[in-house]
Amino acid sequence: MESKLPNMGTTVFTVMSQLALQYNAVNLGQGFPDFDMSEELVELVDQAMKKGYNQYAHMNGLPLLRERLAEKMRSLYNANINPETDITITPGGTYAIYTALTTVLKPGDEVIVFEPAYDSYIPNIKINGAVPILIHLKFPGYSIPWDEVRSKISVRTKMIMINSPHNPTGSVLTKNDIEQLRQIVTGTNIFILSDEVYEHLIFDKIQHESILRYADLLQRSFVCFSFGKTYHCTGWKLGYCVSSPNLMQEFRSVHQYNCFSCHTPSQVAFAQYLKNEEAYLQLGSFVQRKRDYFQRLMSATPFKPLQSSGSYFQCYSFKGLSEEGDREFAIRLTKEFGVTSIPVSAFYQDEKDDKVIRFCFCKKEETLAKAVERLVRFKV
Ligand code: PMP
Ligand code: GLN
Repeated sequence: MESKLPNMGTTVFTVMSQLALQYNAVNLGQGFPDFDMSEELVELVDQAMKKGYNQYAHMNGLPLLRERLAEKMRSLYNANINPETDITITPGGTYAIYTALTTVLKPGDEVIVFEPAYDSYIPNIKINGAVPILIHLKFPGYSIPWDEVRSKISVRTKMIMINSPHNPTGSVLTKNDIEQLRQIVTGTNIFILSDEVYEHLIFDKIQHESILRYADLLQRSFVCFSFGKTYHCTGWKLGYCVSSPNLMQEFRSVHQYNCFSCHTPSQVAFAQYLKNEEAYLQLGSFVQRKRDYFQRLMSATPFKPLQSSGSYFQCYSFKGLSEEGDREFAIRLTKEFGVTSIPVSAFYQDEKDDKVIRFCFCKKEETLAKAVERLVRFKV
């Protein structure tokens, strides 16, 4: 059969996690917490199952959960979200992104994508017959080169994808970025896909520039979230998409014959647990402490930190420490030093190699300490 996604290979997260297992390495590669999630939340799912919430939920998501999410978005972002028409619960953030892309893209449409880019974006565009228009973020701060964006807009531009806080770099968008985006899209039919799965994982008291803050932009946007990231349960694969009523209606047309509805007991549990505002409000400082702890330990190694203002991730440069490419280097760190990272070139179609590797610091302190104990043995 002719492949619809030729030369796609296996995602770097799976490749590096398998290598970590094979070499018994500390896995700071794939982004997932290694500590326990809230017991109360687990308990709530257990209770939901025992109380009989075991059949299909509403196709758009459990109504109470959508109501609670709308309240949360009003209180956090002053957003006026109608739970009936503007929110759909999805099996994870990745699915929400895929569905949004599938909702709008036709063959030949162009989508502006910034690289390094989260690994699912480009395959998701291509499978819809659309064309990713790639723009490199400015190294080493990974900010958006807006002049280049303007120069790449064409009559075929259907969508611009943004992601803040950003995976893999931890950079975040500013108010000025939003203004630049607004200037570009105003008066056009360009859609925005805003991947905000790390909305709460933002540090140093920086405000998260959610698209939900901007009613004019939300009209043309699909904003994607993940419960997995907010509640340390990436394996539960539950998320949601927020949009304006007309776009959401189209999104749901795609969703209803793909997934139809999502895991009921976890929706019941999240609806209850969302009342606990502290659980998400303290998340930024909780994860920031991990970033700071990891950076402190890493200062004993020759690796040079880049800025991380959010997400699970901290990138380090190994420039001047090795002539190897970042893939080779990350593989060698796994095999010889027992620590797994992700080579950032994996997030570029042209494998741009700035000699940067990504570490996930959303781990127990002992895991981070064990990894760095091994990395300090690295000598030039
Ligand atoms: N976008 C980005 C940038 C991510 O890092 C992730 C998490 N891997 C997702 C989307 C998807 O999250 P989920 O696991 O809920 O599909
Ligand atoms: N988002 C996570 C990361 O960036 C992993 C998700 C996955 O393995 N697909 O590491």
